[in-house]
Amino acid sequence: MEEAAKLVKELVDFAESRAAEYDALARDIWEHPEVSHEEERSSALYRQRLAGQGFRVQEFPEMPYSFCAEAGSHGPVIAYMGEYDALPGMSQACAVRREPVVQGAPGHACGHNLLGVGSLVAAEALVHVLGLAGLEARVRFYGCPAEESLGRIPLVKAGRFSDVDAAMTWHPADVNTPHRYRTSANLSLVISFEGRASHAGMAPHAGRSALDAVQLFNLSIEFLREHVPQGTLFHYVITNGGAKANIVPEHAALHLYVRAPTAQDLRQIMLRVRKSIRGAELMTETKASVSIKAGKCDFVPNGAIQDAIFEAMRATPLPTPTKKEIEFARALQKTIAPSDRQATLLPIGAPVELLRKPLHLDIGDFGEGRRIGGSLDTGDVSYVVPTGQMNAATWPLGVGAHTWQSCAASGGTWAMKAARYAGMSLALAGFLLLKEPERLARAAREHKAVPPYRSTMDM
Ligand SMILES: [Zn+2]
Repeated sequence: MEEAAKLVKELVDFAESRAAEYDALARDIWEHPEVSHEEERSSALYRQRLAGQGFRVQEFPEMPYSFCAEAGSHGPVIAYMGEYDALPGMSQACAVRREPVVQGAPGHACGHNLLGVGSLVAAEALVHVLGLAGLEARVRFYGCPAEESLGRIPLVKAGRFSDVDAAMTWHPADVNTPHRYRTSANLSLVISFEGRASHAGMAPHAGRSALDAVQLFNLSIEFLREHVPQGTLFHYVITNGGAKANIVPEHAALHLYVRAPTAQDLRQIMLRVRKSIRGAELMTETKASVSIKAGKCDFVPNGAIQDAIFEAMRATPLPTPTKKEIEFARALQKTIAPSDRQATLLPIGAPVELLRKPLHLDIGDFGEGRRIGGSLDTGDVSYVVPTGQMNAATWPLGVGAHTWQSCAASGGTWAMKAARYAGMSLALAGFLLLKEPERLARAAREHKAVPPYRSTMDM
């Protein structure tokens, strides 16, 4: 048998012989969803598992439930990142109609129960095949909590990734593709204004309205939209609009999201946002305070790693769905309005003809040269070390993240097969990077073109 085919068979045998354990872990985390900053149980499951497999586990003080597990002591560092947080209010049974398991409870509508397990498969399988091939490397699994909130930014800032030669991850999706598209940089901030209360009927002249400041600021943002780089997005909600209409509001606040094509663009835009805040203060004689909540850099895909991932995806056999899995996927797909199904495909340039089928049973190569409006904390990692990622078709075509359908699908057997496929592909990509050192050298060369890292939270 040819060497490459033998290696793939080793990987498949390894992952398939442990399939029941991996699937049980993905299912367990799906059944016990924990939201950002509360992933005590999920994190512990991974740490116990990895320690049992001979990885050295180190918890990080920068974020609760974050950790790194490493195997091997010499050679390049290959890192896989796993997430495990759920989304509030998204509780959903593995069913084809909206059916919360517990009304109002969290649910894995972003499939992070799969994401963590796929990356776990990658780390364990890579260690296994490196041993067979007599190759040395340090293989890491990073436990990355709170992706839906603050994300791994504190870990990046603390230098926890700085010695990594190649960082990789994946995301559950409705298509199989290397993640060649970029994501947007973002910043989430709360702007609070403080004015002076007065009786709105008796002494309006004595009041200074914090709500006026919020409204004038928002109006300035509406005008600013025209004069910022294309791809910039502003979205806001008023979180405090005052207490009572007959009191001039003393306190008012809004929560603003700014998204921009790159972290550098975001920095420039924020200079103008700061001027708008100052303008609102001046017009209303109020005082503003700004609280930065979270912020992510854009994702800069590393071509050498993306190419290794694509090669590995093509060399790894895709799973085969059972008749029941196809029927479940078709029924779930039908719950999405036909006009909404394209929303997952168009932004990354995937052909909408794919939607004729319930599942993507092929490997695409979508997204080159594109950028989506969403943001990922993998972006910050991509600024400090060469980083690549892929999507695997865990969900029916047309099913997007953060929906009850994606939560339902993430608890099913097909999703777990697809997660193992992602894990095997990433393990093989890691192997290719180590086996042919020119690939890692190219990754390092390409990374030199990435601008210096500065968190968008430090603006
Ligand atoms: Zn996600």
